Amino acid sequence: MQIAIPAERLAGEARVAATPETVKKLVAMGHTVVVESGAGRLSAVPDAAYAEAGASLAASRAAALSSADIVLKVRPPEADEIAEFKTGATVVSLMNPYANPHLAAMAAKKLSAFAMELLPRTTRAQSMDVLSSQNNIAGYRAVLLATHYYPRFMPMLMTAAGTVKPARVLIMGVGVAGLQAIATAKRLGAVVEATDVRPSTKEQVESLGAKFIEVPMTDEEKAASDGVYAKEMSDDYKRRQAELVTKHAMAADIIITTALIPGKKAPQLISAEVVRGMKPGSVIIDIAAEAGGNCALTVPGEVSVTDNGVTVVGTTNLPALVAADASNLYARNLLTFLSLMLSKDGFTLNLEDDLLAATLITHDGAVRFGQTSSPSAAAQPAATRA
Ligand code: NAD
Repeated sequence: MQIAIPAERLAGEARVAATPETVKKLVAMGHTVVVESGAGRLSAVPDAAYAEAGASLAASRAAALSSADIVLKVRPPEADEIAEFKTGATVVSLMNPYANPHLAAMAAKKLSAFAMELLPRTTRAQSMDVLSSQNNIAGYRAVLLATHYYPRFMPMLMTAAGTVKPARVLIMGVGVAGLQAIATAKRLGAVVEATDVRPSTKEQVESLGAKFIEVPMTDEEKAASDGVYAKEMSDDYKRRQAELVTKHAMAADIIITTALIPGKKAPQLISAEVVRGMKPGSVIIDIAAEAGGNCALTVPGEVSVTDNGVTVVGTTNLPALVAADASNLYARNLLTFLSLMLSKDGFTLNLEDDLLAATLITHDGAVRFGQTSSPSAAAQPAATRA
């Protein structure tokens, strides 16, 4: 099979879908890999490293794509890219399926398009889970971003000139990104609190040495919210949560928000009023910015400072700020996923495989996303947080 790796076009997208390590493995399986020249530049992979791993280099995207049977990407293909794919090609990428305007065009081109966001959260899928690998990076990078804007130290310091107080960090949403944000902030010496709508996260938060802020819940609410993914909560729960969280938010120096609900706009957890009550110099890093933001004042892609001196950071695509490692992990996820279809003996798309069935959004000239009754396909995240 011929496998193409085009360069990513989206502004700020520094990642690449294959690395010399994964190219080498694909070539060793007997496949041909074509990399668009410059595709790895922003991930610290020069063309020469791909060539050394056995790839050929294509001077343009069209040259890379025109005869490729399989295309590996990070961002969903745009209309002009889709036009350049070979009819019937297989494409594996983040696809933003809930808001992708090109599904019909991909189906018309008979692409077998796989949306990596739709991978079920099962044990077998763990090594292919791009949301986990990329959100882990986002959580880490969010804390470093906070230290950049926060005008004080993170750890407690005892100096000859006096004692410096540790920063108080509040993490809202304790999925993969939130857990890594807790761990990173703790490593830097901050005092960390965290909250999540899923009660099962309490133990995880406490095992990392942080304090869990628990919103009182009825038994019914507990049962409804304790799945792998969060559900949208009732207005009454939101009011109780807001009351409790407001107190902690106003006492925090740094807030990192990561709360997402699959397929929906991110829930608003911090109102403009709460931001107005925060201390000058405080920082909010809204990892959910790309999905609409958890803070009312977040502007996706921008950093703003309020009149009362709070910095609200809506920087999107945090994994791309750690591009080399983000690409390494993403590329390994994709290689493992490809091995469900690709072997030394060729290519087989087995729709009985639950991981392939849940992620395949267009196939054989039809749009499958939204048409299947598979619970895993219906209950997965929308956000292109990665
Ligand atoms: P996510 O990105 O969908 O959401 C981030 C967090 O925000 C979640 O913990 C969610 O509960 C929380 N949240 C949503 N609404 C909220 C609200 N109103 N207030 C407070 N918090 C709110 O989550 P994720 O990182 O994808 O992780 C989801 C779960 O999946 C986690 O339990 C994770 O450990 C699990 N997971 C399992 C596997 C696997 O088994 N293969 C792989 C990865 C993750």
